[in-house]
Amino acid sequence: MIWRLILFALIFILTFLSPVPAQEVSPSPPAASTTSSFDPTAATKALLDTVPADQRAKSNAYFEGGYWLLLWNFLVGAAISIFLLKSGLSARLRDVAEGLTGSKALQVVIYSVVFIIIVAVLSFPLTFYQFFVREHQYGFATQNFGAWFLEQLISLVVGLVAGVIGLSILYAVFRRARQTWWLWGTLVVVLLSFFGNFIAPVFVEPLFNTYKPLNDPKIRDPILAMAQANQIPVKQVFEVDASRQTTRVSANVAGLLGTTRIALNDNLLKQCSLPEIRAVMAHEMGHYILNHGAKLTIYLGVVALFGFAIARFVCNFALQIWGERWQVRGIADPAGLPLLMLIFVTFTFLMTPVLNSIVRETEREADQFGINTSREPDGEASIALKLGAYRKLDPTPVEEFIFYDHPSGRARIQMGMDWKAAHLPCGNLDAQSPATE
Ligand SMILES: [Zn+2]
Repeated sequence: MIWRLILFALIFILTFLSPVPAQEVSPSPPAASTTSSFDPTAATKALLDTVPADQRAKSNAYFEGGYWLLLWNFLVGAAISIFLLKSGLSARLRDVAEGLTGSKALQVVIYSVVFIIIVAVLSFPLTFYQFFVREHQYGFATQNFGAWFLEQLISLVVGLVAGVIGLSILYAVFRRARQTWWLWGTLVVVLLSFFGNFIAPVFVEPLFNTYKPLNDPKIRDPILAMAQANQIPVKQVFEVDASRQTTRVSANVAGLLGTTRIALNDNLLKQCSLPEIRAVMAHEMGHYILNHGAKLTIYLGVVALFGFAIARFVCNFALQIWGERWQVRGIADPAGLPLLMLIFVTFTFLMTPVLNSIVRETEREADQFGINTSREPDGEASIALKLGAYRKLDPTPVEEFIFYDHPSGRARIQMGMDWKAAHLPCGNLDAQSPATE
């Protein structure tokens, strides 16, 4: 059974990823076809060489540490699940909920609240190391422990609200569709993630950061001009005070339909030049124009369907063997939630290269849109170098395939330099008289 699943997973991964090369190393254009002596590959190497060796070593160490954190997060999640099942704690929690109320729906609510708190408490040491200690070690974090811990508590409350709603809907489905729960479960997860993307920018993000309109016309107007040129219906650009939490530069386009918002963070404003800012914002506009929100929901929905199909097999198999010992009565019994968590943390861990490649491919598309819109190959290259502070600049192709959810710095600089080498001179459009139609 296990081998069949692994084989299935391998076939899926290979089928899914064959048209998506992890890394596109473009050959240098043949010398005869180009009139300039600009060599994009040499230019890429020269730019990468501007980063001092100690800085490179530091960012490599930070990023490679993230590979191990994937493993530790998986092991901690799996250990908590197995502990809750084997100790009988999960069954006892279900029994307590049944003693308190006869309503199946309320039993799920009670079980979910306690379950989410137990998982948050048991995984706290790893959370503390990953998001507080390590971020301070590398100089990216700007919060003291009190402020950071308060935000963790707010996140836990948000997680409780979202988790209780999500699990209540899922278990209502599981109670009604004992055979086809995995199909309906996928649909619920896709709809909930769509809904989450829709409301998060409006209801969740303001709990952590303040968004205010960007008023400096020297920055705002060139960004709005690019938006207008691409018929993006925004009248304002927002600035978010990310420096409260971090020194990283970033921007985002968030929300769907009416909640769409283009925002850049204050670190980007402080640390970057206008060409760099235009390159970043054009990339974000690419996500909007290329409908990446909807596309990613569909792509990840396919992966979720695959995950639920596996979950059905593994659940039936595991409950046949250990169901009595764990006192889990079936899929509709909330005491089986740790088993579902075990299956999904394992699935997500094994699917890391697939999930990263799906996201990285959309990021590469946004890069291509961005460079054609901003026409800032040098801005693109220098921002890629800046992002190299926390993303290893020059990985091996296999490393990029497995671990990168964005193109590497080298890939991005190469793209910029290829664009620079290949783009045709089009003259100064303002100065030209209108051509005949
Ligand atoms: Zn992006």
